[in-house]
Amino acid sequence: TRVGFALVGIGKLTAEELISAARTSEQAYVAALVSGEPEKADGFARALGLSEQDAYTYEQFDELADRDDVQAVYIVLPNSLHREYATRAARMGKHVLCEKPLGVSAEDAQAIVDACRDAGVLLMTAYRCQYTPEHWAARDAVQDGTLGDLRLLHSIHAQVEDDPEAWRLKRELAGGGPLPDVGIYSLNTLRFLTGQEPEWVFATQHQPAEDPRFREVEASMSALLGFPGGVSATIQTSYAAFKTTSLRVMGEKGSLLMDPAFPYDGLKLSLSDDDGTRQPSFPDYDQFTLEFDHFARCIRRGDTPWTPGEEGVQDHVIMDALYESARTGQVVRLPTHTNRDAFR
Ligand code: NAD
Repeated sequence: TRVGFALVGIGKLTAEELISAARTSEQAYVAALVSGEPEKADGFARALGLSEQDAYTYEQFDELADRDDVQAVYIVLPNSLHREYATRAARMGKHVLCEKPLGVSAEDAQAIVDACRDAGVLLMTAYRCQYTPEHWAARDAVQDGTLGDLRLLHSIHAQVEDDPEAWRLKRELAGGGPLPDVGIYSLNTLRFLTGQEPEWVFATQHQPAEDPRFREVEASMSALLGFPGGVSATIQTSYAAFKTTSLRVMGEKGSLLMDPAFPYDGLKLSLSDDDGTRQPSFPDYDQFTLEFDHFARCIRRGDTPWTPGEEGVQDHVIMDALYESARTGQVVRLPTHTNRDAFR
């Protein structure tokens, strides 16, 4: 039998991606919806073949405790609300799938990990790219020696955010600007591909005083990260540059390019060496279905997810260091004992 999920928050991601992805999952299904707008929730519930009783308001969230068919809660709310709903879900004994970024700081994200551990429920950070065949093929090329010794890494994730009122531009709700929203893909993917953690970071950011969108958060950030063995990475992210998602890894014998690297579909991978360039092809898939399937299997088997909460905390530790560097103008060294040690 499939694992029942309650989706919490019916914004753009839930409405446009998650509901249809759950429909095609063989492991998971949507058993309940939680939203601030009862009419919207009722409409989506009907479309899913659910009843009005399956649509909850945020005030009714804790009533999910009575729903044995809801084994997991998928939190798809603005970032600063992840902690509250993850903690309440864990207290009800529900497993938690939480959208990225896990929280708004390393401390905030760690509180989610602690709450889920104390309650004995599983926690997965929704890093969808780590479930795609393109990103796994890139990881294989990096880790099996195809590219030779690793030297340089580079990734860009930028897009234009043009609504000054968007929650993504409010520090309290978002925890930062483009870095935790889209730059996090660059950071997380470089860690995933190399299996390594940066030892130090240096960052600069731009926050134009005259642009009303960037009163609270940065418009752009450029960062340099030092990985073990002298491997250096540059990451650039922006809310004021044309939609770009790209990834480059250069080893001594070969290189890889993924562009686009982070959209929901249409990822393109090229691998180059002295013999030329090849572009492997992959079967079609839905990234969100892959995530639902993975977490549902973990729940059934009691396994730790591939991207657990600690993975989300680790990105926050590094993002906190990037902001500290941008603020102080100094290189910030990272602890050698990382959250990765806790799970891999
Ligand atoms: P959205 O703005 O479209 O939806 C957010 C939902 O939260 C809305 O339904 C809104 O009503 C509700 N909400 C509840 N309290 C709120 C408050 N105080 N302020 C504003 N909204 C409130 O956002 P989204 O794009 O669906 O993003 C939700 C989460 O999903 C974020 O954590 C985001 O980072 C993540 N996300 C992930 C991906 C991905 O590819 N994995 C893509 C988009 C968003």
